[in-house]
Amino acid sequence: MKYYDQHVHSSISDDCDTPMAEMALAAADAGLSAVTFTDHCDIEHYVTGEIDPGCYDGEARRAVYEDARERAGSRIETLFGIEIGSANHHPDVAAEICSDGFDLVIASVHNLAGLPDFYTLGREGRLDDREEDVRLLRRYAEEHLELARQGGFDVVGHIGYPLRYIEPRVPGLSLEPFRDIFAEALRVMIEKGIALELNTSCFRQGMVCTPEPWLLRLYRDLGGELVTLGSDAHEPGLIGAGFDEGADMLRAHGFERITRYIDRKPEFDGL
Ligand SMILES: [Zn+2]
Ligand SMILES: [Zn+2]
Repeated sequence: MKYYDQHVHSSISDDCDTPMAEMALAAADAGLSAVTFTDHCDIEHYVTGEIDPGCYDGEARRAVYEDARERAGSRIETLFGIEIGSANHHPDVAAEICSDGFDLVIASVHNLAGLPDFYTLGREGRLDDREEDVRLLRRYAEEHLELARQGGFDVVGHIGYPLRYIEPRVPGLSLEPFRDIFAEALRVMIEKGIALELNTSCFRQGMVCTPEPWLLRLYRDLGGELVTLGSDAHEPGLIGAGFDEGADMLRAHGFERITRYIDRKPEFDGL
């Protein structure tokens, strides 16, 4: 099968040092058929949780992308996406950003309303208490329902993200106690044609799978068919990493095709 990495960062994102053109060439070297750059735009800053007016500069992004696409030339199909965070806290801002001519929009919940990114919460020692973590995970589930009802994006990124930072501090927690909330969120996603991402970073980092396998199964059982693969690579050597494991996992959960987005329209390929 062809591999399309639809979740890749470049130096446009604060947490990546490699220029987009270099990432695109690395994706070609890795034998991928296409790469979609989905640099961060967290409407609320990951450290402060406050609204971040500098999170999006469309013109600058587009210029970097056009340059990368030109340099990669015919070696790989290079597409332009975005990973938007805090979209459900600021629906109007999100809608405006998402209308800026992308091939793909991933919406991710990196932070809850009024709080910084889960990454920051972990660093600040605010994920060390089990009961508090369970409360945060419930809110995380509820925000996914809110996000799904809002819509306006193509894919939900890495469901289970907080577990990346909770697991090393308080092991053994899961989103499964909030299955009913997620079932409703997934139903709404299916109804609206919103895809579920299997974020393969979990395979290389030995972390909790994003999403956890029960959630992948639930999406399929509810009739969901739209799934994407994304490595969430922040460095060139990780583009496409974990895709063999990811494709196996999707097949094992009853999915028969992979979805890719061009000009925000889904296309399908056999798994
Ligand atoms: Zn993310
Ligand atoms: Zn990402």
